[in-house]
Amino acid sequence: VFANVPAAPADPLFSLIAAYKADTFDKKVDLGIGAYRTDEAKPWVLPVVKKADAIIRDDPDLDHEYLPIAGLSSFTSAAARLIFGDDSPALAQKRVVSIQAISGTGALHTGAKFFSKFYPRPQNQKVYLSNPTWGNHVQIFENVGLPTTYYPYYHPATRGLDFEGLTNALRNADEGSIFVLHACAHNPTGVDPTHEQWEKIADIMAEKKLFPFFDCAYQGFASGSLDEDAWAVRHFVKKGFELCIAQSFSKNLGLYNERVGCYHFVSPPLADADVPAGDLCDVSMRIKSQLAIIQRSEISNPPAYGARIGDIVLNDPALFAEWKQNLETMAGRIILMRKLLVEKLKELGTPGDWSHVTKQIGMFSFTGLTEKQVMRLREEAHIYMTKNGRISMAGLNSRNVEYFARAVDKVVRE
Ligand code: PMP
Repeated sequence: VFANVPAAPADPLFSLIAAYKADTFDKKVDLGIGAYRTDEAKPWVLPVVKKADAIIRDDPDLDHEYLPIAGLSSFTSAAARLIFGDDSPALAQKRVVSIQAISGTGALHTGAKFFSKFYPRPQNQKVYLSNPTWGNHVQIFENVGLPTTYYPYYHPATRGLDFEGLTNALRNADEGSIFVLHACAHNPTGVDPTHEQWEKIADIMAEKKLFPFFDCAYQGFASGSLDEDAWAVRHFVKKGFELCIAQSFSKNLGLYNERVGCYHFVSPPLADADVPAGDLCDVSMRIKSQLAIIQRSEISNPPAYGARIGDIVLNDPALFAEWKQNLETMAGRIILMRKLLVEKLKELGTPGDWSHVTKQIGMFSFTGLTEKQVMRLREEAHIYMTKNGRISMAGLNSRNVEYFARAVDKVVRE
């Protein structure tokens, strides 16, 4: 019956990792995968995560029973406070539904599935994704039957934001269109709107009645500050939007394979008289019941280990403070690598203006290298990056940054 199933293309990023692993050259450089590396090019288990892990292991009452369908509530409520802020009007009005998810990807899927079932799209309204965006976004939405399209985002000439293109797209989209917005540290470009630009984006979205669907995969990882990286989301909440957020803890807790995340849905502001005494307002309760059905049918209940780690780190004041230091370590090393790379390129007199590397933020930099240059770097220098010229800044360190700069210098000149 399935004899004619066509072969799907391999995932480009995971194929890149395989090619890197198979390369035996001793100076090879991995700038592909979006995972943090130390200055020794090693994965980093956050010290605070080690402490939380020890607490879990020392707990004589630890068992392996199922979690509730919506996940570990002490974790999901702390995750909500983390993104919305302790003083969030949405939390105060009990109009935030939070459901544990299989990391950011699972949270995006939960949201997409909920939209496919309940979001009214009388004009076949689309899901707008930034051009470019994280490679998985298209299939996550398309897989549940939601059509996608792109809004302009990156301006190749300035290697910055195409603000005019973006705002024009907002103005021209059908009312009710869904816009997926990267909350901070845009992947793959590393280009984020400024606060003033976010304010303008929010104003137009409110006027045009567009739905903000935030993807937040790098809170604390971009600037090193959890609050700064949540600024855009909090601004939209303050403005009274109905919105949702897919929240990942892969990067900021370094828990990539534990799949720990959350999907949050924020309902519109309530009149004071309608704020419930109980846990959640009426509409949030109904939304939560539907999200629970989706969760139950797809994974039944979420995995516990990563959520327990998050629960301990987010709820223990001393560990929370230590986590912030760990985040500063990661963000700080990446920011330093941006500076070092630009310095080396300047020293070499490499043609071009490389200031975008230090202006961009988060895990990635969109270098502006062409596909041909990327392929030459792979073949001649054993440097691995995605074809669009994106580099994972965490793959650079004090030992390989000069090697990388020299290789770039060479391919840019020829
Ligand atoms: N969104 C974006 C923009 C990402 O970069 C990532 C990770 N690469 C994710 C979501 C989801 O990652 P995860 O499922 O590991 O949390």
